[in-house]
Amino acid sequence: MNRRLLTPGPTSLPPQVRIAAAKEIIHHRSDEFLKVFQEVREGLKSIFQTRNEVLIFTCSGTGVMEAVIVNLLSPKDKILVIKGGKFGERWADIGASFGLQVTGIDVEWGRVVDPNLIEKELSRDSQIKAVFTQLVETSTGVVYDIKSIARIVKETEAVLVVDAISGLGGEYLPADEWGVDVVVGASQKALMAPPGLAFVSLSDKAWKLVEESTLPRYYWNFKEALRMQKNNQTPFTPAVSLICALRESLKLIKEKGEDNILKHHARLAEATRKGVLALGLKIFSEAPSNIVTAIELPLGIEDKKLRALMRDRYGVEITGGQGKLKGKIIRIAHLGWVDALDIMAGISSLEMALSQMGFKVNLGEGVKAAEKVLSGSEE
Ligand SMILES: *Cc1c(COP(=O)(O)O)cnc(C)c1O
Repeated sequence: MNRRLLTPGPTSLPPQVRIAAAKEIIHHRSDEFLKVFQEVREGLKSIFQTRNEVLIFTCSGTGVMEAVIVNLLSPKDKILVIKGGKFGERWADIGASFGLQVTGIDVEWGRVVDPNLIEKELSRDSQIKAVFTQLVETSTGVVYDIKSIARIVKETEAVLVVDAISGLGGEYLPADEWGVDVVVGASQKALMAPPGLAFVSLSDKAWKLVEESTLPRYYWNFKEALRMQKNNQTPFTPAVSLICALRESLKLIKEKGEDNILKHHARLAEATRKGVLALGLKIFSEAPSNIVTAIELPLGIEDKKLRALMRDRYGVEITGGQGKLKGKIIRIAHLGWVDALDIMAGISSLEMALSQMGFKVNLGEGVKAAEKVLSGSEE
């Protein structure tokens, strides 16, 4: 049975990327590695759409989320966090762990944040040093309006930090053009590389905060990482194999063209939405993202059973809800190395599994609706 990962990270890897990860280790201070590292630095800048350096760390995405907090802030600093799901809550939790004063904007899970609420909070309290949000709140499948949020934050003293770990490479986010100060990314989502690397870009405004910040840090020292990276080095041993793998995936992205890849994600997302709607299901998210589709579970359909059927009979792995959405939604991801027929497999296996569980579907209806989108001319 072929296995298909329709999960919002980690995602499947193209063969070139897998092969690169399996090769013999090269030493991280060798000329050979420095060349690889330089290529990866350039490739990431292009994905982040920034002229700023993109710092590369060996850790999962959350590692760099914590690194941002400890490099930008000082004890008792005030921060504003958009809390519209599991990952918004993570920013608040990390902030609280380091003794920051966290103000949350509570957004109903599945809804977008109203940028005016951010404006209101920032004008009420000029001491707020930074605003933390997601590009895609992966737990609810919602994509936030970062362009409007950036426009507001830009006019204040605060910096805007966007966790784009899931969205980066699948959703439009021109960091410099929109004025997003800090963008966080990771290797294992739309970037088609194994888990274990995370990235961050910082604007001049953000680097000023780094200068003032007094929270303790050692492994996560951004200034030291920047100094070393300018010579294509890292302060400590990087995950050499993962960086070699990432080089291959960045090459693939460049060959295909970043705009085409965004269009590809948009098309897969549309096909997924049309497919599930045709089955009589409901989309959970107010502003559905192009990287993951969150779907309300119909009454009487048990999440775990449905997903086990899809996985064990058809080899299709999707995810359920997180936190308070456990048992209430399922999520079909379509990011990274996913193609049209992976989506067809996702919709088809969903149809069959639902039917087996006694949910009334007309077999083929979802597939037909998705095919209509996917059979249109591409690029
Ligand atoms: C996956 C994800 C993360 C980080 O997860 P790690 O497991 O630490 O890599 C953070 N934020 C969002 C929005 C994500 O989708």
